[in-house]
This record gives sequence, C-alpha cells and structure tokens, in this order.
Amino acid sequence: MEPCIIVHGGAWDIPKDLWDSHRRGCSTAANDGYSVLRKGGSAVDAVEVAVKSMEEDSTFDAGRGSFLNADGEVEMDATIMDGDDLSFGAVAAVQHILHPVSLARQVMEKTQHCMLVGEGALRFARSIGMPTVSQECLLTDRELRRWQEIKQRQSFEQRELFDAARDRYSPKGTVGAVAMDQKGKIAAATSTGGTPNKMAGRVGDSPLVGCGNYADSKFAGVSATGWGEPMMKAVIARRVCHSIEDGMNAQEAGDEAIRYLEERVKGYGGVIILDKDGNLSHSNNTPRMAVAGINQHGERFEFI
Ligand code: ASP
Repeated sequence: MEPCIIVHGGAWDIPKDLWDSHRRGCSTAANDGYSVLRKGGSAVDAVEVAVKSMEEDSTFDAGRGSFLNADGEVEMDATIMDGDDLSFGAVAAVQHILHPVSLARQVMEKTQHCMLVGEGALRFARSIGMPTVSQECLLTDRELRRWQEIKQRQSFEQRELFDAARDRYSPKGTVGAVAMDQKGKIAAATSTGGTPNKMAGRVGDSPLVGCGNYADSKFAGVSATGWGEPMMKAVIARRVCHSIEDGMNAQEAGDEAIRYLEERVKGYGGVIILDKDGNLSHSNNTPRMAVAGINQHGERFEFI
C-alpha cells in the first residue's frame, strides 16, 4: 500500500493572525508522520509522531499551550488507536506530561487496561520512567491571560466558546492525526487540553473511544475536534466509521455525522477521515478547521 496521512489542528473560528501558525504546525506534523510511513514505520508510530509535534507547538490546545481549567490548572486528554486489532490506550485529566499521546500509547502497550485518569495516569507515567514537567512548562502567557479574563466575568457558558460571534474565547486547536501505513494498518490519535475554564476533572470527547477518535483498518480512521459534550452524545467518530461500513464514502459519512451533530444535539465541530482506500477528507460546521495531509500519490495539501 502507498501510505498517507491527514492531521488537524482544531475546528473553530481561527482568526487571520493565527492562520500561518496553524498551517505551519499542521504541515510540519503531517510531514513528520509521513516520513515515518515512508521509512516503513507503522501507522501507530506515524500518528504518535505527528501528534507529538503539535503537542510541542504552543499554537495548539494540546500539551504545551493547553487551556487552563476553572482552578487554573492544565489537565489534558489523549488517545491512540490501532485499527488492526482495535486496541487503544487513553489518558484523561492528566497533568505534568508534555506528550499525553505517548502516555496513551504506553497504556495501550504496557497495561491490561485501555484508559487511565488523573493521578493514576501520572503515577503510571512515573513508574515507566516517562519524564514529567512542571505546569509552567505547559502554560503559555496567552492562556494565563485568557483564564484571568474569563475569571473576571460574571458568568461563562461553554456554548459561547464555539459561537463564532463571540470568538474571543474560542478554543483553538485540539490536535489529531490519522494515518495508513504500507501494510494497510490505519491508526488514529487525538490530544487536547480540553476547553477553557472547564471544571476540574472534566473529560471531553477526545480520549473517549468512538467519540473523539476511532480506527478500524477494515474501514476507516477518524479524529474529531469541537465542542466535546455534544460530540460525546453523538459518538461521532464511530458514527462516521459505521456509515462507511454501510457503504457511504468518506466525505458523505463525515458530512452526515456533522449534520447529525448539529441537528440532533446542536453541536459544533469537525472530523478528519482516512478510509481504507486512502481517501482523505474532512467535514466541519465551524467557520474554520485547520487541516494538512499527504495523499497516496505523495501530494501535500493544507488549508484553513
Ligand atoms: N473536543 C475538545 C474537548 O471538548 C475540544 C476541541 O476539540 O477543541 O475537550
């Protein structure tokens, strides 16, 4: 098989002054993941490498640059899934880790479980020698200012975050990647700092299997981004795969899932999709979505 990869850096009303950094961050991640695939690496390796590159880049709401929760702390969620045997690993509400996606992979490969949360996830990271970092290392001035501004307000509705008319507080870039390797394995990974001012302990769609992420090498891989609560209700990533199993093409399946998200649970967001034939697509109902990829002919694309 010729390998291919698609990545996203969030779906929201991305202001013009952030287009370049989103484009750059997504393209770099796609290139990094693609070089792994070209060298014969697995799709799981490729999506981990791609997501790590965006976790490091403070443009995005994942790893460094994550939003602060209501208590002023960074709590992150991530997952990675191997579409051959449907194994996955996930971490949620985890602190002090620069690369939650790598911790999620270790959960998949080194434990008998699929998901670890909070303090337990951190203890596991320490037990396998994964480096931990201070909160300051994950925190950016931009997010500290955003948090302080939100705290000065009388009330704050999570829905406003995704309302284009009030984009001052809009979330930016949760990140995700879906790849297919030379053996036809499809893998998907998603990582996020969640939503600004979320309650401590809040977990969104991103680390939940079938909600923010799904991969089945027989059909497709999906990574989602957007307002987590409605996306969880819609179990959106699995819905896309299910539609593809039922015969829709990737674009139709993504469009259907986003329509359902909006009509059934008034949600906002986007999905990237890679199907077993190497078709790459995305669908969203937000003003913008940052996407980059490299198809099976080696052609690169990126847009916002
Ligand atoms: N889905 C993420 C969450 O709700 C946020 C995002 O994708 O922007 O945690």
